[in-house]
Amino acid sequence: MFQPSFTYSPLPARVVFGAGSLDQLSSEFRELQVSRALLISTPEQSGLTEELALRLSDQCAGVFPKAVMHVPIEVAREARAYAKQVGADCIVAIGGGSTIGVGKAIALESSIPIIAIPTTYAGSEMTPIYGITENGEKKTGRSLKVLPRAVIYDPFLTLTLPVRMSATSGINAIAHCVEALYADNANPITSMMAEEGIRSLARGLPRVADHPENLDARTECLYGAWLAGSVLAATSVALHHKLCHTLGGMLNLPHAETHTIILPHAAAYNAPATPLAMARVAMALAVDDAPQGLFDLAVRLDTPTSLEALGMQAADLDRVADAALAAPYPNPRPLQRDAIRALLEDAYYGRRPRASTVMN
Ligand code: NAD
Repeated sequence: MFQPSFTYSPLPARVVFGAGSLDQLSSEFRELQVSRALLISTPEQSGLTEELALRLSDQCAGVFPKAVMHVPIEVAREARAYAKQVGADCIVAIGGGSTIGVGKAIALESSIPIIAIPTTYAGSEMTPIYGITENGEKKTGRSLKVLPRAVIYDPFLTLTLPVRMSATSGINAIAHCVEALYADNANPITSMMAEEGIRSLARGLPRVADHPENLDARTECLYGAWLAGSVLAATSVALHHKLCHTLGGMLNLPHAETHTIILPHAAAYNAPATPLAMARVAMALAVDDAPQGLFDLAVRLDTPTSLEALGMQAADLDRVADAALAAPYPNPRPLQRDAIRALLEDAYYGRRPRASTVMN
């Protein structure tokens, strides 16, 4: 059905995509007229920043290989102070959402541009969304100051991403696409990108699982990740992302795995209210039923399917359900406590998503 009216404000984004595109970093410096980069990575990926520092020579102002998940305020403060101390005029963040998140924390305060070089499929590089964790609570916001000015997608850099992390961060990206398809501010362009994002990832991820060294499969997944990040940036999120945010914040569950487990259940919850979106998800997955197809994809990729396996306790189900309902937000199906508690319990025990046809 054609959407008769909508508002769409595309964000400025320069994307350099392709195997070997990391070689274009210097030309991106010229484009942005910068010459003193602060390189950021996690400790696990410090080999990448060391190699880049050698390549960049005196265009590297410093290296900060201390990014960790969810950007603790202490790490953000240390990174900001270091960026000032070395006189950085740009940030090069090479890694996943955690690394790009630290870059965003610096840019939020200093307004220096970020060049993002993503090595997972999480999609943060395309968004103006930042998150900083203080006193156990992750606060998120949106600002154009943190939107990377250039993104270099080089599939070579994803060849080392372990199979399980590839699968879970890929499903995290699919989750951005699923929620974009039923977002209250969706439009024909974002929906087209979301559907294509799911299709690319659903085709690419099983190929990556079978042959992690296959560059073509990696390229297909990274293309899907780009689309997923783009739609996350342009639309609002609903139940799925809110539940994952609550579980991550309250129980410190791992980000991508949590998304992977919740997605089929959140889709099943919203399915009765979103038949057109679910039809597009099913078409992109090449299955008959979207929530069941999402569950089967996770099983095919051998990812965890239960919150119990992530170490959550059954005793926490009630307080997570309460917290997820504490602040109201737009969701296609009204938020109903019993049904959300049931959804969480299904996810806790790793059951198949319910075939839900009833709107409460
Ligand atoms: P991550 O950045 O935490 O990385 C997980 C681990 O994988 C790290 O140890 C990292 O060093 C390693 N790794 C990354 N790429 C690798 C590679 N190619 N080879 C080997 N190891 C590699 O994981 P993530 O899932 O990308 O990011 C999760 C974080 O990003 C969360 O905090 C989440 O909230 C945030 N996020 C933010 C947005 C946004 O728009 N702001 C979007 C998605 C995710």
